[in-house]
Amino acid sequence: MDRGRDGDRHRDGDRDDVVRFWERLGLPGIIDVHTHFMPERVLRKVWAYFDSAGPLTGMEWPIAYRHDEDERLALLRSFGVLRFTSMLYPHKAGMAAWLNEWAAGFAARVPDCLHTATFFPEEGVDRYVRQAVENGARVFKSHLQVGAYDANDPLLEPVWGLLAEAGVPVVMHCGSGPAPGKYTGPEPVGRLLSRHPRLRLVVAHMGMPEYAEFLALASAYPEVRLDTTMAFTDFTEEFTPFPVAERGRLADLGDRILLGTDFPNIPYPYAHQLHALERLGLGDDWLRAVCHENASALFG
Ligand SMILES: [Zn+2]
Repeated sequence: MDRGRDGDRHRDGDRDDVVRFWERLGLPGIIDVHTHFMPERVLRKVWAYFDSAGPLTGMEWPIAYRHDEDERLALLRSFGVLRFTSMLYPHKAGMAAWLNEWAAGFAARVPDCLHTATFFPEEGVDRYVRQAVENGARVFKSHLQVGAYDANDPLLEPVWGLLAEAGVPVVMHCGSGPAPGKYTGPEPVGRLLSRHPRLRLVVAHMGMPEYAEFLALASAYPEVRLDTTMAFTDFTEEFTPFPVAERGRLADLGDRILLGTDFPNIPYPYAHQLHALERLGLGDDWLRAVCHENASALFG
């Protein structure tokens, strides 16, 4: 990719901004539980989706970090992101096992990436999920909107049981933003948790736009966490603002909120997510927990 001197300067500024954030907090760096790495042609399709997001969601979504994989990894490391994930997800049957194979290879060659896996309600799902856990998967991703499946699908029952028992977290896109799905929203997730109360569910995007309902689930279930991905940013506040009345609950659940960003598929610089957390005014202890300590405790 051709980058002029302006591009370099832009990138250096971006990096300095991120590093200053965690240095001021006295952290060794940050942990980002929600970043996307996936096979190149799948990622291209995701980018094509965001390129067409204007008409789909009513907003432009210019991707800030549309670089080759090596460059994206170098950027994250230059930001001081100590650990990250390779969130990937199928939109149909017959895809997840192949994605898991790719992700296992990725984690093997990228040791700072937490080995990530995924699934879909289909025949054999319990077999390949068990396989992934045995192969060392540290975190799973479930995307109810793109996958268009019900978390309560009977085919997934053994999967939730297995993950709850193994204590392996699942980052789930279950909120109805930026686009709703047939099975998104707090109601089906609440039913899932009533059967699997110890499931280490990480609600992606703070559950937007159903922030209050998902925070209530986290209050009710001690193993439920939320990731900050895109929440509180100018971009998100414009169309699904976080309710001011729920601010107190953010403080109460400070040990259950994890930094996530959606890098590289974000329409603003990486540091903006960090500043968006900072301006909530919940204090430095809260920021240290969210940006490093909670994930460090969860993943060891
Ligand atoms: Zn994401």
